[in-house]
Amino acid sequence: MARYTGPSCRLCRREGQKLFLKGERCYTDKCAMNRRAKAPGQHGEGRRSKPSNYGIQLREKQKVKRYYGLLENQFKRHFDKAEKQSGITGENFLRILETRLDNAVFRMGMASSRKEARQLVTHGHFTINGNKATIPSMVVEVGDTIAVKDKSKSSAKFKAIAEKSVNIPSWLSVDPEKMEGKVVALPVREDIDIPIEEHLIVELYSK
Ligand code: SF4
Repeated sequence: MARYTGPSCRLCRREGQKLFLKGERCYTDKCAMNRRAKAPGQHGEGRRSKPSNYGIQLREKQKVKRYYGLLENQFKRHFDKAEKQSGITGENFLRILETRLDNAVFRMGMASSRKEARQLVTHGHFTINGNKATIPSMVVEVGDTIAVKDKSKSSAKFKAIAEKSVNIPSWLSVDPEKMEGKVVALPVREDIDIPIEEHLIVELYSK
């Protein structure tokens, strides 16, 4: 599947804020936003004119795409699904993004970034309810158990991951020793701790 392969830090600099795309490095002094926060490119340091409403909405959309590491088609597909559901479209949309398998693996603390989580999923290291799960865009449901495959549990990588302590959102319950987690509820807006104004994306697509 096509994906962005350029430098992750460039995306943060473009959005003017940390998107936490590189795992632990994002929390250190090596973070490019700590050292060089200007927008990328020749005119990155130049004065920018006040953005239009459209420009603001577009930036918000790009930010969410980058947080979750999605390309345009995947992003739109999730949005269309959210629109068909009852309730508030923006919240439906974020809930769908949060319950993607790659994001759930990241939230469980089984990967240091969503990018790494996606790679681990596609490489077949996870199961859902005992069945191999290799599609990062799969949406998990309440009651699903996401686990590191037995064969992978002994790898140094997963052993190191299991020893780290991370903040687990309330919609997941994780057993680090077993290297598995269960979806105990669907995430609500308060569970999603990224600074996004999702209504701007809804406005953008409703034009
Ligand atoms: Fe963004 Fe992380 Fe790079 Fe910092 S280190 S600029 S937060 S991807």
